[in-house]
Amino acid sequence: MSLTLLWLLLPVAAASGWYVARREYQKKAKHSSSNLPQDYYKGLNYILNEEPDKAIDVFMKLSDLDKNTIEIHLALGSLFRRRGEVDRAIRLHQNLVNKSTLSAEFYGQALQELAVDYMSAGLLDRAENLCLELIDVDGSNIAALRLLRDIYQQEKEWFRAIDVARKIAACVNESQSLIIAHYYCELAEQACRKSDLAQAQRMLEKALLEDPGCGRAMMVQGRTERQIGNFDAAITSYQKLESKAPEYLSEILDELKACYQAVGQKEKMIAYLKRIIRNHHGVELVLTAARMLKEYEGDDVALAFLGGEVMERPSLRGVQYLLELDMTQLNDEKGYLGVIKSSLDKLLANKPVYRCTSCGFTGVEMHWCCPSCKTWSSIKPIHEFQWGASI
Ligand SMILES: [Zn+2]
Repeated sequence: MSLTLLWLLLPVAAASGWYVARREYQKKAKHSSSNLPQDYYKGLNYILNEEPDKAIDVFMKLSDLDKNTIEIHLALGSLFRRRGEVDRAIRLHQNLVNKSTLSAEFYGQALQELAVDYMSAGLLDRAENLCLELIDVDGSNIAALRLLRDIYQQEKEWFRAIDVARKIAACVNESQSLIIAHYYCELAEQACRKSDLAQAQRMLEKALLEDPGCGRAMMVQGRTERQIGNFDAAITSYQKLESKAPEYLSEILDELKACYQAVGQKEKMIAYLKRIIRNHHGVELVLTAARMLKEYEGDDVALAFLGGEVMERPSLRGVQYLLELDMTQLNDEKGYLGVIKSSLDKLLANKPVYRCTSCGFTGVEMHWCCPSCKTWSSIKPIHEFQWGASI
């Protein structure tokens, strides 16, 4: 064949290839649409017309399920669950699980969806049993393991949650140390409530072994030592926060002050605060120092200290306390300073104190696990002039 002829035939070959491919596609499309039973369209119409129960009845009556119809079943089920219609999701997924013709793969998927439905409905025992069944078949089913860990977390079955978290860490290269440390802290707090302080100490040691930077463990450890009467040990635990988790320093100031007072070293507390203020500018540190100075050294010393701090790092709460001190001295509660102070009080009264760094949730109460996104250690105190956060 000459080279010219070859060039002439090339477009013909391309066109015939395109024609064959198109025929093949049309054949496949025709075949796949005819595969979907007519009743499915009826069911989908019910969904579009906001008649979900009629749709579910239609789907549940279908006897022959193939890959496409099963996937539609699963997608609809999770759609119902996301819309908060968990009962409907359960009906659909239960129907799938009961089909004897379902392949092992789809049976597993349906079972997992059903477990999520049960968890959403608060039927934790049922969800747990399904997860255990799934893990029994495949010990590295990571989705089932995560779900089981969350179920135990919700049930406050902390030891079981720790076991499952360890299994997750072994299956995937994903550290569970932060979460496990919190589980140990939960156990420690549980023991504290039962006045079993020795058990609390053991749990806190484990928490810190798991995550040496666990600020919560240091705080609970300080509280436990204080309860036992080991004030020096409590002070040491609280002060570990400075290097390991300084964002929580503002949370322990009253307890730390009580410990220093118990050992008769209140001056040391003031000196400590003055030192750490240089590196950790949380306004609570400044306010605690100012309040202590007022208490032990008088208003003038407190005013001079606070005035200097506020000049250096302006903060609304700092100004608020400064006004309070100043007004007491000037006896000016009804003058313009009083107006400014009461306006500031109102402005600051409803400000959130904590913010989740993961989802932005804000509140006035400290949570170790965010109530909104369920992330551990993501909620931090809002500091006026630290880490870029401002109020
Ligand atoms: Zn969150």
